[in-house]
Amino acid sequence: MKSRIGPNGVHLFNRLSGLNVLLDELSPEEAIWSMSPRQVSIALTNVCDLHCAYCYAPKHKASLHTDEVLSWLKELDAEGCLGIGFGGGEPTLHPDFVDICKRAAGETQLAVTFTTHGHRLTPQLVERLKGSIHFTRISVDGVGRTYEGQRGKPFASLLRGIDSIATLSPFGINVVVNESTISELDAIAELAEEVGASELLLLPQQATTKVASMDRVVGRALQNWVSNYRGQVRLAVSELGTSGLPTCDPLPDERGFQSYAHIDASGVLRANSYSSAGAKIGDAGVLWALRQLRNTLDIKRESNHENLERIRL
Ligand code: SF4
Repeated sequence: MKSRIGPNGVHLFNRLSGLNVLLDELSPEEAIWSMSPRQVSIALTNVCDLHCAYCYAPKHKASLHTDEVLSWLKELDAEGCLGIGFGGGEPTLHPDFVDICKRAAGETQLAVTFTTHGHRLTPQLVERLKGSIHFTRISVDGVGRTYEGQRGKPFASLLRGIDSIATLSPFGINVVVNESTISELDAIAELAEEVGASELLLLPQQATTKVASMDRVVGRALQNWVSNYRGQVRLAVSELGTSGLPTCDPLPDERGFQSYAHIDASGVLRANSYSSAGAKIGDAGVLWALRQLRNTLDIKRESNHENLERIRL
């Protein structure tokens, strides 16, 4: 088991079983808390062969180099990170995707996960990935025609992708919640149960240049759906979408960068993939960029606070 020290105690994690144990009787001093975020998502590439309107991935071409990704992973691993999630773009389109996953699993103790649209998961690719992936996420925005309208790909092809994933690792289903998918949450939850998914991750739609954020009507319908949900598959929700939903956070004192950070396909560290503020990861590494970004955000916060005080006066 890998251990991580933080404000809520000592966190033990087994990447093979997914077991988490929190020794919250212990109160470690801040000086010995792990320096890395608990989870880090990494966009390996901005390239994708789909064109979803709610896609937040930047549209300029960018991809990370295998060696730089591995050096960041080793640093994060040594500093107490528990898991990394590869995304994009579509991460399977990175030319070294399999090699990166194999090396991440073999050269670090990190849990290796990735998020995919699922249409490129041939049996050959899945075979090459076996043993290197601890959890996979597949995007299922609606069923049948709704899915096809949202993603522009045949639903039958997605189902084949889900079948492949089920042979690779434990997996979860991600759903962007918007005015088209809200009425299909029951059908998606049934599908999740049927195919053996272990988690259904709700992603309330965030604004992009092409779509608005999930509106209030959909937000209320989502709250009702969650309150009435009695399915077997565990529900989860993105941090940006928790408002109004009953959530349970076992590590309530691990906030902000202690819990999560994102690295985009240009090698810029951000609080999340929607955040405009970022720090380029240079030769000094990820933790150095993290300190730079924290300082920048602290300065911004202080200056906003000062402006507010002036307005009040
Ligand atoms: S599949 Fe994902 S990365 Fe590709 S366009 Fe859709 S949302 Fe963006």
